[in-house]
Amino acid sequence: MGRIDTSLPAGPIMTNPIGEPDAAGSGAYPCLILNADYQPLSYYPLSLWSWQDTIKAVFLERVNVVDHYSHVVRSPSFEMQLPSVVSLKDYVVQNRNPAFTRFNLFLRDGFECVYCASSEDLTFDHLIPRRLGGKTTWKNIVAACSKCNLKKGGRLPKDAKMFPARKPYEPNMHQLQAQGRRFPPNHLHESWLDYLYWDVELER
Ligand SMILES: [Zn+2]
Repeated sequence: MGRIDTSLPAGPIMTNPIGEPDAAGSGAYPCLILNADYQPLSYYPLSLWSWQDTIKAVFLERVNVVDHYSHVVRSPSFEMQLPSVVSLKDYVVQNRNPAFTRFNLFLRDGFECVYCASSEDLTFDHLIPRRLGGKTTWKNIVAACSKCNLKKGGRLPKDAKMFPARKPYEPNMHQLQAQGRRFPPNHLHESWLDYLYWDVELER
């Protein structure tokens, strides 16, 4: 493998809005990483590699190039269009449990209040209030808007006559990934769309 022209800047890629490749900014030409089943390895954060890491993986034969940018990198002995989508050759099993985070909880509940479906001013509600022994766990915390949270106060659902639209559950990675497909990250390169919106397209 020849020396690759690395005149493009490297940088953190997760923080850069992914629109038109911007050679002047950090993280130009990010590549979408698909698992061997052609599903994105992760939605949140979206699984992306820098173009440098992607090219390394191509040369190490760990990935197949699925689509590419028109931009070409060159060395005296080699030239290559920068990949925009690659798939892993070996399937990565993702069976770890999702972290109990603010973001994952909102994602599970579809970024809306489980009481009134509003997506404004989201916060959390303890189904069984803390003062009655309610724990801060997947099964006792729901996304709620500030209004409903205030209205319910420290009461049980039956006392407040406020019941969540769905029973809270501890999601596995697969369930969160499925939710992720409903809320794809914005600002996508066009060659990624087929892989991110694939099942959305099928529903049309
Ligand atoms: Zn509400």
